[in-house]
Amino acid sequence: MTDILQIFPPTLILTACIIKIWSMPGCIVSKKKYWGRGKDIFPSVVGKHCLRGYKSPEYIKDCGTPERLDGVCADFLTGKIARASLCHKQMAVFVDRDGTLNLEVGHLCSAEQLELLPYVGANISRLNKAGYRVCVVTNQPVIARGGCSDSELKKIHNKFETLLGEYGAYVDRIYSCPHHPDRGFVGERPELKINCNCRKPKTGMIEKAVKDLNIDISRSWMIGDTTTDILLAQNAGLRSVLVKTGYAGLDKKYPVIPDYTVQHFGEAVALILDQSKNLVM
Ligand SMILES: [Zn+2]
Repeated sequence: MTDILQIFPPTLILTACIIKIWSMPGCIVSKKKYWGRGKDIFPSVVGKHCLRGYKSPEYIKDCGTPERLDGVCADFLTGKIARASLCHKQMAVFVDRDGTLNLEVGHLCSAEQLELLPYVGANISRLNKAGYRVCVVTNQPVIARGGCSDSELKKIHNKFETLLGEYGAYVDRIYSCPHHPDRGFVGERPELKINCNCRKPKTGMIEKAVKDLNIDISRSWMIGDTTTDILLAQNAGLRSVLVKTGYAGLDKKYPVIPDYTVQHFGEAVALILDQSKNLVM
């Protein structure tokens, strides 16, 4: 598969897979001159054949019009498609959630409470376009305490990703730690009351992301509003940017100094993109 990806972009492989599905017995062959994946092909094969999908951060684009094909060819020539392949080490920006991307409300536990901070959507879009993988890493002990269910957390993240979509922005992964080490809360979930390896400032979520997305730690960053985030960056070998939103680094949990301090997430992204110009790609 690796060799194939180096020769053919994933777009072509996807198209080839669709043609293979289309040619299977039982597929309804449309008399329409033009047909699309979403409207025509997938509905035709669902239920008749095994159709599997996976979330990929690699370069996948519909190139079914001359204009789109020109764009894909241009991306191929500039190396954008190859750089996006997980065969190559990826640059990433890890970002804390509450107080950094959305308003800090103290134990956010429902989608209605979620409100994106200014500059967040447009600046995640800037990171997307610059080729950074964007991963949210968030401690959610409210799950272990029984204050928020798994399904409500899913709704919160669905709303978060929908709000980003309004800016044409997306995150590649959301990692959350549902654990908490201290027992004694009414309604707590005993199975989540453990000393895990993923609760920040421990590095379990970063290690999972490195494995999932082939991330190059030496070219990656951490943005957050607490000393926990800064210590996480130090523990994982990431450069750190403290934002003055949320707790603004005044939580007094750990005696750490960030590599950089800025006012908000938008300034953090500007700093990272400016610094990346000095890196040898
Ligand atoms: Zn955990």
